[in-house]
Amino acid sequence: MSEQKEPFKTLIIGSGPAGYTAAIYAARADLQPVMVEGMQPGGQLMDTNDVENYPGYPEGVNGPQMMMDFRAQAARFETDIRSGFVTKVDFSGPVHKVWVNDEEELEAHSIIISTGAAAKWLGLENEIRIRDLGGGVSACAVCDGFFYRGQEVVVVGAGDTAAEEATYLAKLCKKVHMVVRRDEMRASKVMQHRVENTENIEIHWNTETVDVLGENTVEGVKVVNNQTKEESVIDVTGFFVAIGHKPNTKMFKGWLDMDATGYLIHKPDSSHSNVEGVFISGDAGDKVYRQAVTAAGTGCMAALDAERYLAAKGIH
Ligand code: NDP
Repeated sequence: MSEQKEPFKTLIIGSGPAGYTAAIYAARADLQPVMVEGMQPGGQLMDTNDVENYPGYPEGVNGPQMMMDFRAQAARFETDIRSGFVTKVDFSGPVHKVWVNDEEELEAHSIIISTGAAAKWLGLENEIRIRDLGGGVSACAVCDGFFYRGQEVVVVGAGDTAAEEATYLAKLCKKVHMVVRRDEMRASKVMQHRVENTENIEIHWNTETVDVLGENTVEGVKVVNNQTKEESVIDVTGFFVAIGHKPNTKMFKGWLDMDATGYLIHKPDSSHSNVEGVFISGDAGDKVYRQAVTAAGTGCMAALDAERYLAAKGIH
């Protein structure tokens, strides 16, 4: 791998499917990309066991292996991959500045952001333990629902994501139990109606999760009705948490346009941010799709946009 000279043509922040794809495209276009990997190299897929919906892996692949493949492909085209975490940026000048681990300052003509997002968890001890064992705790129905065909599952949450996950799972599972902490849902009306009109979804109102039961795999979920204080166990084999995601965008506050949750806002049908030469890819700017394949697609878009931007500026 070669050491690039500053200011770099392209600096990629973050290393999930979006970042690695941006690196592959940027490197093949001779942009000599430098990548700062971030806190969790490989991103959310490092916590994912079986990926069966990424084209090109007919037998499926585990998330960390897939990210090692992506990384190897980016490295093969001479991406300069560096460990470290971007803590601060300065996008005021024509050359953009980025600080790694609060210390090292890097300069680049173009920046591709692929810092991703993280699913929120309830934080229960057994939820996290069984999640880490790959034993039936998930934050992605599209990724993992297939493994629960014909079984009963719980979905926690009452926003659009939870409603979508529940209706998706209802097509595969015998029954879906939605655990909703209030007596109403936050989801849009149309999604609420869809949930209510799905026969095999049961909504448990005013209900909170107390514990996830099971040694290595989910065997049930203990809940409490927060009005009556009555505890009960829902007999399920899957536990899907859909209480929101947090985009990793704190370091861009004040520089880039973002919505109330922190998702970066890009111009329609492009990866352009509100700052010239700064491009957005992956889950950091996507609260709707959040799939590895869509992240990879937007990584490609960002690299192509960066390439055109640099060409227009005459930076070769
Ligand atoms: P939201 O923040 O909208 O909803 C989170 C849900 O989780 C709420 O119902 C909340 O309950 C519940 N919740 C939060 N913490 C806990 C907890 N500790 N225990 C139990 N329940 C909890 O997140 P979403 O991911 O659903 O949506 C994020 C954004 O993305 C929204 O703007 C949404 O509209 C959008 N979106 C759009 C989609 C689309 O257009 N197709 C698809 C998915 C999302 P409470 O209501 O009581 O606070």
